[in-house]
Amino acid sequence: PYTLGAAVSDYDARRARWLHDNPRFPAFVAPGRPRVLVVTGSSPRRCGNADGDHVLLRAFKNKVDYCRVHGFDVFYSNAVLDAELSGFWTKLPILRALMLAHPETELLWWVDSDVVFTDMLFEPPWGKYAGHNLVVPGWDDKVYAAKSWLGINAGSFIIRNCQWSLDLLDAWARMGPRGPVRYEYGKVLGKALSDRPSYEADDQSALVYLLVTERGRWGDKTFLEGSYSLHGFWLAIVDRYEDMRRDATATPGGGGGERWPLVTHFVGCKPCGGQYASYEASRCRRGMERALNFADDQILRLYGFEHESLNTTAVRRVRNDTGGPLDADDVEIGRLLHPTFRAA
Ligand code: UDP
Ligand code: MN
Repeated sequence: PYTLGAAVSDYDARRARWLHDNPRFPAFVAPGRPRVLVVTGSSPRRCGNADGDHVLLRAFKNKVDYCRVHGFDVFYSNAVLDAELSGFWTKLPILRALMLAHPETELLWWVDSDVVFTDMLFEPPWGKYAGHNLVVPGWDDKVYAAKSWLGINAGSFIIRNCQWSLDLLDAWARMGPRGPVRYEYGKVLGKALSDRPSYEADDQSALVYLLVTERGRWGDKTFLEGSYSLHGFWLAIVDRYEDMRRDATATPGGGGGERWPLVTHFVGCKPCGGQYASYEASRCRRGMERALNFADDQILRLYGFEHESLNTTAVRRVRNDTGGPLDADDVEIGRLLHPTFRAA
């Protein structure tokens, strides 16, 4: 059967040895603070619609902004590393290659190209996941009881650099080779899951399938995160940004919690083109504009600017340019400019 590559054994011990031999590249950059690599990507080809590559650029700028604030590395892939695993399946070989090349990385965080970070301050609660190797947005009852392919979302998930994860990627990838294998597994998934229309196997359904059919093997180390928006469905979010911003400003939280969705994910929008879009392109495009501007405002304000509205690229100055630039003492701005949670 298909494999992602040479079988790797004893990886945890090998990695531990490497970390011991390379103390300048610790897997934890501070106590309780894992080294995180955010991984994203898009097709090697240019987008199928005129606006797509511009949207991808802005969506990547958004990820760069988020990663800079939090001190995460970021990797953008434009390559399909394994021709068998084309399309959305391509994230699997990318994650494996990065895992093996970067033993110093403790956690890899895959985000789809159509994911927009919309709370630039919030960061996943790493400590909560110390005993888990995979963190996926989802709900226990929807996965294990309802066996729904929508019980998780595979557009934003966190995976630990360890043997368990390599094994998972292997088991997962077996359902992905394009052509007859992917097609036949589509039928298997359709039968095993409760609500999946019949079409070729997709990575999200395949992961639900593994959790449902081999819960003993994978379930214990998989954390289904539903307490904040590790993935947030765009339709329920994009018209509410102004309200959320107003409400959060009225009652500033103590920090730690999510002020508004961490992620707005444009599921089904295909911003780069493609035949399977499930929503009207203009609606998607308007939503993306608003999400990107909402996130960008959180960055621009640090420098004294903001968008005139969430619906336009035009910006205006919101702080006077002064001769005493370091005198202002704005707590909210300081939290993002010089975050204390970030390692030295
Ligand atoms: N993708 C990639 N290379 C490819 C095709 C897809 O890296 O050649 C990634 C890209 O990040 C994309 C993701 O796979 O966002 C999943 O596809 P999409 O977001 O369109 O699926 P949806 O979220 O709508 O289900
Ligand atoms: Mn997506």
